Amino acid sequence: TPHLGNYLGAIQNWVNLQEECSSVLYSIMDMHSLTMPKEPAVLRQNILDTTAAILACGIDPKKCFLFRQSLVPKHAELAWILGCLTNVPRLLRLPQWKMKRASQNNEGTVGLLTYPVLQAADILLYKSTHVPVGEDQVLHLELAQDIAQHFNKKYGEFFPVPKAILSTTKKIKSLRDPTVKMSKSDPQKLATVNIADSPDEIVLKFRKAVTDFTSEVTYDPASRPGVSNLVSIHAAVTGLSIKEVLHQSAGLDTAHYKMVVAESVIQKFAPIRNEIKKLQEDKSHLIKVLEDGAEKAKELAAPIYQEIRRLVGFQ
Ligand code: AMP
Repeated sequence: TPHLGNYLGAIQNWVNLQEECSSVLYSIMDMHSLTMPKEPAVLRQNILDTTAAILACGIDPKKCFLFRQSLVPKHAELAWILGCLTNVPRLLRLPQWKMKRASQNNEGTVGLLTYPVLQAADILLYKSTHVPVGEDQVLHLELAQDIAQHFNKKYGEFFPVPKAILSTTKKIKSLRDPTVKMSKSDPQKLATVNIADSPDEIVLKFRKAVTDFTSEVTYDPASRPGVSNLVSIHAAVTGLSIKEVLHQSAGLDTAHYKMVVAESVIQKFAPIRNEIKKLQEDKSHLIKVLEDGAEKAKELAAPIYQEIRRLVGFQ
C-alpha cells in the first residue's frame, strides 16, 4: 500500500497528469517487483492491493492506460534489445544497484543489475516523451535517455529522448527519524504512515512522532526537522500554505499539534481508505481493469515494436 510520501510526492501528481495530458500510461510493475524476493502469494496480493490503492487515489482507467507490466511481454522483449546496447560498467555504477544489493545481503542477481534497462524499455516501448520521476530515479531516466540516443545513432532517429517531470513536493520524512525520508522499507513500523492505515494507527504513529524539546510549533527544517515535517505534512494534506498552517497552529504545543496533524491525515484519507476496502472486495474487477489496460497498451506498443524489429534486422 502506498504511504503518505508516495501519495503526496507521486500519486497526486499522476492524478493531475491524467487530467492535463492525453495518452498517459501507468503500469503496475510486477516484473520489477521480482527483483526483490517475494513469495508468489504475496506478489499476487500486492498487485491487487496496489491497483486498488491507486484507483482509490483517483487514477481513472478511462482517462489513462492502467495495466500490469507482465501482461505486455514486449516490455521484456524490448529490454533484451536495449540490454544489448548497454554497457555493464554503466549499470554497476548506479547507486540503486549498490544499495539494493547490500540490503539483500547477497551478490546481486542479473535482474537487480539490469532492471534499469527494463525501465528504459517500459518508457521507450511507447515512444514516451515525458516520465514523472522522483529524484531517486533521475539517474535511471538518464540511462533511458542515453539508450534512446544510442539506439537512434545506431539505427536511425526513432525514439524521442524522454524528459523527466520532477516532483516539486518536498520529501516527507520518517516519523521516527526526520532526517531520512519516509519509506516503505523502513523496519520501524511507526515511521511510515500508509494511506490505508486505520484512524487508531494514524493517531498512534503521530503521537510517537519524534520532535524535539521545544514545545512551540515552528517551521525550520534544518534545526527542527521533526516538527517541520509535521508542518509539511499538515500543509500538504490540507492544501494550506506553511504560513497558513503556522498561523492556525499558533499557541498549540507540539503534543497537541501532533493530534491536529493526525486528524487532518485521517480526514484526507478516510474516503480513500473506504474506497480501497471496497475495491479489494471485488478482485475480479481489479483483474479486469489490469487486463483491459494491457490490451490497450499492447495495441499502442505493437506498431512501435514492429518498427523496432525492422530497424534492428529481425525482419
Ligand atoms: P518508491 O516506492 O520509494 O519507489 O517511491 C515511488 C515514488 O514516490 C518516488 O519516485 C517518489 O516520487 C515518491 N516518494 C517516495 N517516498 C517519498 C517521500 N518520503 N516523500 C515524497 N515522495 C516520495
